[in-house]
Amino acid sequence: MGEFELIRRYFFPIAEAGNTSAILLGPGDDCAIQRVEPGLDLVFSVDALVEGVHFPPDYDPEKLGWRGLAVAASDLAAMGADPVCFTLALTLPDANPDWLQAFARGLAAAAAHFGLALAGGDTTRGPLTLSLQVHGTVPRGQAIRRTGAKAGDYVCVSGTLGEAGAALNYLDSDNPGPDEQALLARYHYPQPRLDLGASLRGHASAAVDISDGLVADLGHILEASGVGACIDVARLPVLAALKRLVGSEGAVNQALNAGDDYELCITISPEAWEDLPEDTRGQLTIIGEVRSGEGLALTRDGQSEGPVAGGYDHFRT
Ligand SMILES: [Mg+2]
Repeated sequence: MGEFELIRRYFFPIAEAGNTSAILLGPGDDCAIQRVEPGLDLVFSVDALVEGVHFPPDYDPEKLGWRGLAVAASDLAAMGADPVCFTLALTLPDANPDWLQAFARGLAAAAAHFGLALAGGDTTRGPLTLSLQVHGTVPRGQAIRRTGAKAGDYVCVSGTLGEAGAALNYLDSDNPGPDEQALLARYHYPQPRLDLGASLRGHASAAVDISDGLVADLGHILEASGVGACIDVARLPVLAALKRLVGSEGAVNQALNAGDDYELCITISPEAWEDLPEDTRGQLTIIGEVRSGEGLALTRDGQSEGPVAGGYDHFRT
């Protein structure tokens, strides 16, 4: 099977995913055409995922298809963007039809779930690498940036933290128990918070998605906004399954430092928090407060645990 036939067979159906009204021309020409209606801003981002760096060698291709698009879509969620479409550059050591079929199945499931249509792509031969560009839109001027956090804002996170990072210890488990499986599902099938991100437009003062760990990613907001923050480790939302596997202290550590959760970390003024719809607030946990100055301090039930060792810039292990 030639390259074009492979792409046509496995990838063209993904062009039908989601709301395609903005795609005037999908795969098959030199470029795709996306129409951006007046009053909207185009928001876009590219992610590269390299085998052995961003996902394990010989990783299940169906999971890779889901995970690759989820990771890219999470950046749209962080900006509060409505998803539209994506392009994929796929570098493959060889064109194995079984691998491609499974990869396309995972990618198609994610594309349909997130409402992202495949608008075009390219394949080349080489070490397994995915490069995904995602496009979304926001009403003009309403993208949520990292620069808007102000002293007195709440710091909030969505969902629960630390599970995907902890799952790395169980990727090779032959017979994972229910707790391990709960963590593994979070690693294999990230759920970018697209709806939540969109519902925070006009409310959140800053947002970031948690790809590298809460301390690192909140650090990006603090640095970009020129502020500091204090978070209470007793408030960090963690799954009971994670506590059972690594203990309470281990769970706090994972929640602070582990990556790959793809939850959102936002800042929001207390007034804007009160204005949020109930179901939006229900998806978020207040974990601390933005302060003037710089750096990230930790407390536990109100008692100081001191500044994060080394500062957030250098805290990644
Ligand atoms: Mg990001």
